[in-house]
Amino acid sequence: MGEFGLIRRIRNMSPGKAPRVLVGIGDDAAALKLSAQRTLLVTTDLLLENVHFDLSYTDYYSLGWKAAAVNLSDIAAMGGRPLFCLTALGIPRAFPIEFIQDFYRGFNDLLGEHRAFLVGGDTCSFRDRFVISVTAIGDAKQERIIKRSGARPGDRIFVTGTLGDSAAGMEILKRLGQRAKGKGKEEKELIERHLRPAPRLLEGRLIAASGCASAMIDVSDGLSSDLHHICEESRVGARIVNDNIPLSALLQAIAPRLSNKAVEYALSGGEDYELLFTVPQARVAKLHALGLAITEIGSIVHGSAVSLLDAAGRKSMLPPKGYDHFGTGRPVKRNKRS
Ligand code: ADP
Ligand code: MG
Repeated sequence: MGEFGLIRRIRNMSPGKAPRVLVGIGDDAAALKLSAQRTLLVTTDLLLENVHFDLSYTDYYSLGWKAAAVNLSDIAAMGGRPLFCLTALGIPRAFPIEFIQDFYRGFNDLLGEHRAFLVGGDTCSFRDRFVISVTAIGDAKQERIIKRSGARPGDRIFVTGTLGDSAAGMEILKRLGQRAKGKGKEEKELIERHLRPAPRLLEGRLIAASGCASAMIDVSDGLSSDLHHICEESRVGARIVNDNIPLSALLQAIAPRLSNKAVEYALSGGEDYELLFTVPQARVAKLHALGLAITEIGSIVHGSAVSLLDAAGRKSMLPPKGYDHFGTGRPVKRNKRS
C-alpha cells in the first residue's frame, strides 16, 4: 500500500468535514480557524534513530536543529509564521545529559532565529533508541494560506534555492562517518546542508503575502515525490524541464565522485527543505519582483502524468522516487527517512 496509501486510508476513515478545519489531513500542516482573524497552523513529525538519523555521524546540536527545522519547514510551506513548539523524547537509559543539552541548544538556536519558543512536551525512557517527536504551532492569515491543492493547468512551477545538496551531503557522511570532519570545504558545505537545513520561512511568508502562488509544499521527500503530492491534491499533471532544475555549483563539482548524477540527488534525494510552488502565468512578473532566489522548472498540465523533458526535448515519466516508509526499492543510496 505504501506510506501515502496508508495515510489516504487514515484520511478516509476520518469523519469528513469538521467545523473550523480549513485544512486537515493531506497538507504540510493543518489550518484551524480560531476566529475571523486568527488561523492556527499545526504540524508534527517523528524522528527515529537509525531511520531518520544516524548518531554515528550526527552530532546532537545538529540533530536538535534539524528536528526543529523539519517542522518549521512545514509551517513555511503553508505561508505561515512559527510561534511555538512541543518536543516529546524517548531517551535510552544512561544517555548522557550533555547529549540532551546539545540537542536543545541546537533546537532553541533554530527556534530563536525565527522567534519561536519551546512551550512543552513529554519525556520518557525508551530502551536503546533515541526517539524524537516535534510539534510546531504557527499562524497565518486565512486568505493567505497556500495549500497543496490549488495548482491549475498552465501554472508555472518554481522552487527556492538549489536541490540535491542534502542527499549528496548525507552520502558523504555515510561513506566517511567521523572522518568526514577532516574533509575539504566543499564536502563540509554539503554535509552542513544535510545536518542543518534552513527552513524557508521568510520566502514562504513573502510568497504568501504576494498572493502569487496557487499551491506550495516543502521539499522533504525529494522533488519527484513532492511534486506528485501537489499534483495528486490538485488533480493535475506536471512537466519538469530537467536542465532547469537548480543545482548548486558545489553539488555539480562533487557529484562525479559520488554514486549518482547531480540531478538524481535533486529528484530523489529529499531533505532539502526548499519550497516548491506553482504560480499562474499572469502573476509570474509580480513573483519575480519579490527578488527571491527562485527558479522556474516547469509547468502544470491537464491530466495526472508527471513527466521530465530532457535537453533534446524527449519526454519521460517521472515516478515519485523519494523515500516511502512502507515501499520497496530506493534509487538513491540513502538513509531511511520521511
Ligand atoms: P510532510 O512530509 O509535509 O510532513 P507527511 O507526508 O508526513 O507530510 O504527511 C502528509 C499528511 O498526512 C499530513 O497532513 C499529515 O498530517 C498526515 N498524516 C500523516 N500520518 C498521519 C497519521 N498517522 N494520522 C493522521 N494524519 C497523518
Ligand atoms: Mg511538508
